[in-house]
Amino acid sequence: MGRYPRQVVALVAAPLGLVLALTALLGAAGDHPAVRIIDDLVNFGLLAYATVCAALAARAALARLQRAWVLMTAALAAWAVGDLIWLLYELILRQEAPVPSAADAFYIVFALLAVAAMTQFVSEPMRQSRLRIALDGVTVGLCLFLLAWILALHTVYDAYRDDRTALIVTLLYPAADLTMLTIAVMTLLRADARQRVVLTVLSAAIAVMAVADSTYAVLVAGDRYQTGDPIDAVWGGAAVLFAAAALISRRTPTPRPPALAIPSNASLWLPYLPLLLAGTVGPPLVMSGVEQFLVPVIVVAVCLRQSMAAWENRRLLTAAADQALRDPLTGLANTALFDDRLAHAMVLRSRINRSVAVLSLDLDDFKLINDNLGHSAADRLLSDVGRRLAACARTGDTVARTGGDEFALLLEGPFDESEAVARRVSAAFDVPFTVDGHDILLRPSIGVTVASMSEPDLTPEDLRERAGIAMQAAKRARSPEVHTFSADMVPAGGGAADASGAARRPSGDGAAQIRLLGELRHAIDHHGLDVVYQPKISLRTGDTVGVEALLRWPHPQLGLLLPDSFLSLIREQGLIQRVTDLVLDKALDDTARWYSHDTRIPVAVNLFAPSLRETDLPDKLCRALGCRGLPTDLLTVEITEDVVLSEMDLVTAVLRRLREYGVRVAIDDFGSGYSSLSYLRDLPIDEVKLDRHFIAPVTSDRRAAAVAQAVIDLTHDLGATVVAEGIEDAVTADWLREHGCDVGQGYLFGRPVDAARIVGVDGSDTRRADDAAVIGPS
Ligand code: C2E
Ligand code: CA
Ligand code: CA
Repeated sequence: MGRYPRQVVALVAAPLGLVLALTALLGAAGDHPAVRIIDDLVNFGLLAYATVCAALAARAALARLQRAWVLMTAALAAWAVGDLIWLLYELILRQEAPVPSAADAFYIVFALLAVAAMTQFVSEPMRQSRLRIALDGVTVGLCLFLLAWILALHTVYDAYRDDRTALIVTLLYPAADLTMLTIAVMTLLRADARQRVVLTVLSAAIAVMAVADSTYAVLVAGDRYQTGDPIDAVWGGAAVLFAAAALISRRTPTPRPPALAIPSNASLWLPYLPLLLAGTVGPPLVMSGVEQFLVPVIVVAVCLRQSMAAWENRRLLTAAADQALRDPLTGLANTALFDDRLAHAMVLRSRINRSVAVLSLDLDDFKLINDNLGHSAADRLLSDVGRRLAACARTGDTVARTGGDEFALLLEGPFDESEAVARRVSAAFDVPFTVDGHDILLRPSIGVTVASMSEPDLTPEDLRERAGIAMQAAKRARSPEVHTFSADMVPAGGGAADASGAARRPSGDGAAQIRLLGELRHAIDHHGLDVVYQPKISLRTGDTVGVEALLRWPHPQLGLLLPDSFLSLIREQGLIQRVTDLVLDKALDDTARWYSHDTRIPVAVNLFAPSLRETDLPDKLCRALGCRGLPTDLLTVEITEDVVLSEMDLVTAVLRRLREYGVRVAIDDFGSGYSSLSYLRDLPIDEVKLDRHFIAPVTSDRRAAAVAQAVIDLTHDLGATVVAEGIEDAVTADWLREHGCDVGQGYLFGRPVDAARIVGVDGSDTRRADDAAVIGPS
């Protein structure tokens, strides 16, 4: 009883003591008139107590369980009224109540309501199966009754042969008890683990009643019953057990409806047990000749056949349930199973202090694989990924495929090991996958979150959302590192703040994103977006050799927003063309203004992937330059490698035409994605921009330095310029200069600034400019 508070134990133990005392008293002096009154009073008191407990249970319960307890309260109240009438007979009329009496009307109401109440405890959600259980109950009840009849109750029948009402009334109770008992046991077999204790106690209460009622029927038939018989205490015991069930139910959380109810093994054969007993024990007692052997054999055969059909059904149901909860491609859990397990883990977490963590994983650029290798190869790749993930998990963890190229791991255990598992998962992708003879390196974005003990109200949905946000952050960072959720991460579509702290990020819930989208459309329509420029410095001479145009959104409430917090909105909401046009117009207008002041500043503009599929892009850019009187080589377009990868031929053709017109092409973020030297060889490019993360370790890591050196040399051999991005310190700048890198860009040389601050004043050194890029006339 350790799981139940002392209070509950006391509330059950006290009336139980009373029952024991009553048993002793009745055994000693049951025929004394005063004792008989005490007997009636105690029984009435115990029932009133059980009724109150049931009412309290009804108040605490919800939905179906509440209906069950309301019916049970009414049933127990009817029984109490019946006992009260009995007591009045004894007290006022000084005589035993006749059979049947007014009290019996209430006892019958009790029997009917209690049967109805028991059907409401059935936990299966489908009406159909509730009917089946009711039918099972009737069958079982009748079989048990048949057994009871043959063994004992036919004596009752013989005694009341001429008084039909008395007969029905006397036999009704054992029959109702047996039916109730059957339903209770069958409900118990299907019950949610948490409801099992309540239903066990209820079944015990009904079993005790059945014993009392049957014994009573036999005693009455033999005219051997009178108030004060020790059997009265047995009813009292049943009342206490009803009260106990109600008290425990109050402390039991409402059961979850099962995702797909699989009947337990016992529930398959148990309904046939009474039939088997009645059909084998009965015939030899009441039949003669060949029938007494034939009937039992037939009954056994039928029972076997039915059990087998039920077993077969269960096997099919299990298979169906398994399929409904598994991802057919990988054999991993699907979202439904994952959510179910997560919900369960979260309940256990608060009960027994277990750690629960969720890891969310999304394969980067999987669409490229689908497009280039075909769906069947992509499918094989996904099941390989599934196998590797499963190998990273511990026994007891759940690995699920939650979307096309999305996976999730539920990590449960006595203590948090999510970090170690996440590291294993990340490392599992270091080895290439082999499909159709191709070695393919997949890069995952991995986010992890642990349910913190300081947040008891955390829901399973919160946890999944957080893992998703962390995964999105990993995706945005384009880094293979595992990201752990922190409160300052911004949901999908959001971005991290600038290192300068100058820009703020929007808050991230769904409604906020929708509002942000509206505001973004408004900003696009009403010139609300800005372009800033970051200088590109020649590492050899220190001169500014160009600027990169970067998008900014001065948000009226949120402050200056960086592209990371709204670029995904632009991509997802089909705003790419408008924004690209807007940035190009602004950048070229500014370039033209500088140019008209005799300041020749090449400008680089970032292009979104889809723009490169527009075959009229070269002509459009050419016209835009031409109408402003700008030479075409003042414009550089920056593209990322994954853009090229997706539609190599189409994109290469567009890039070739751009270069024929004189527009320069730069590969952006080299070293951050699927960097492959073969693209450098095949692509028509003028410039390679080395990613910040690629060059950051060159001064500390000899191997990184060797790779960077090789890429610089190779790029030169191909006749292209090398630009290093994100240079923040002089040591790195010096290393790059010494190793032949041509151009540098980064906070060391200057942060992105307004067009107005890119002013042609003089040719002064601009390398250390903190927040302005000052460029002299050409
Ligand atoms: P990107 O093309 O790699 O741009 C360089 C980013 O690095 C800029 O971030 C810049 O502010 C930041 N940065 C420059 N120097 C340093 C440094 O020393 N340290 C660090 N930590 N960061 C530095 P920003 O402006 O937030 O832009 C982010 C990305 O958004 C850009 O990355 C680019 O891919 C995209 N983007 C920006 N403007 C546009 C646009 O007009 N069109 C398109 N399609 N994409 C844009
Ligand atoms: Ca760029
Ligand atoms: Ca870049």
